[in-house]
Amino acid sequence: MPITPLMPVYPRCGVRPVRGEGCYLIGERGERYLDFAAGIAVNALGHGHPKLVKAIADQAATLMHVSNLYGSPQGEHFAQRLVDASFADTVFFTNSGVEAVECAIKTARRYHYASGNPQRHDLITFNQAFHGRSLGTISATNQAKMRDGFEPLLPGFKYAPYNDLDAALALIDDHTAGFLLETVQGEGGVTAGSEAFIQGLRKACDEHGLLLVLDEVQCGYGRTGKMWAYEHYGIEPDIMAVAKGIGGGFPLGACLATEEAAKGMVIGTHGSTYGGNPLAMAAGEAVLDVILGDGFLEGVTKTGERLRGALEQMIPNHDMFVETRGKGLMLGIKLADSADARAFVGHLRDNHGLLTVSAGENVVRILPPLVIEESHITEFVQKMSEGARSFAPVPA
Ligand SMILES: *Cc1c(COP(=O)(O)O)cnc(C)c1O
Repeated sequence: MPITPLMPVYPRCGVRPVRGEGCYLIGERGERYLDFAAGIAVNALGHGHPKLVKAIADQAATLMHVSNLYGSPQGEHFAQRLVDASFADTVFFTNSGVEAVECAIKTARRYHYASGNPQRHDLITFNQAFHGRSLGTISATNQAKMRDGFEPLLPGFKYAPYNDLDAALALIDDHTAGFLLETVQGEGGVTAGSEAFIQGLRKACDEHGLLLVLDEVQCGYGRTGKMWAYEHYGIEPDIMAVAKGIGGGFPLGACLATEEAAKGMVIGTHGSTYGGNPLAMAAGEAVLDVILGDGFLEGVTKTGERLRGALEQMIPNHDMFVETRGKGLMLGIKLADSADARAFVGHLRDNHGLLTVSAGENVVRILPPLVIEESHITEFVQKMSEGARSFAPVPA
């Protein structure tokens, strides 16, 4: 018998949060943690942000849910704001990241079908990718730990090394629909796409009539200091999946597309019972109000630079730290082979009251709320240094 009634798919640790206050989580026994994990890049405004809390409470009392069979003034209003703030012309709302990526994959396939090229159904994806846990999205990664035992998977995906433009271009054939990638890989190790890579994929899409499908579930929505990570590269995608920060903790995602890329998504081709309900839209609007507020994104950039600078100063003092990675407030520290990132994350949590997340390539992921202040950076770096000094490295 399992010791809890929850399906044991997560290696749950001893932190059992029951309350959140800004950038801190409070556990069952009253212990406090500095939260630089933010629900894995979800709690963009921290915990208990008054504006978000009020928007959800007010909307819950007014109208929580109606079917997508009815007109949605709430959905139209929020979707228009996302359209105005992005490359997109049209939006499909989901309840999670994986559903946003599923919608993106379906939209890409359907585009070629509607264009009279139904044989163009393959998406070229990348090593270390993470696109979610549905059968479709585990088919879109070649990470064995997510795929083993779930075969047969969805056909129609090919895999190239991330940031290797030539390898990706070499996979293009008559069946290619486009490329699906994270603009900055999260789970895989906080690896930002290089300019040559992202711009080269865009160029290849234009030349071959392919679609550039970005997964900005983790790196989008202000996380890197720009509204969208693609803005760092001077390009625009055709389709993009968004989630995590968009609801600030309320389950919400979105698939954005140009009108042309979405031309196959006509009545009856897709749907969601909950997607875009009034409660979710109210949460989304409240988060967006803050993120698009005066100076907010500039603040994320500045805070990100401050945090990165502080980490870079700290790194030479400890043999276990190799380098910093990422953009804005989506940062990672790569550890030396002699120190296991997962063990170090556990050590920081259990012995120093600091929450971070591990990622691939032996990286500690740093994903604080976007609203952190100078005092949180100081506290974070102090806890990291103390943690590094008191950590007894176990080999990875
Ligand atoms: C978290 C994540 C997903 C999946 O989102 P869920 O809400 O867990 O379904 C997809 N893609 C990326 C890049 C992610 O970081």
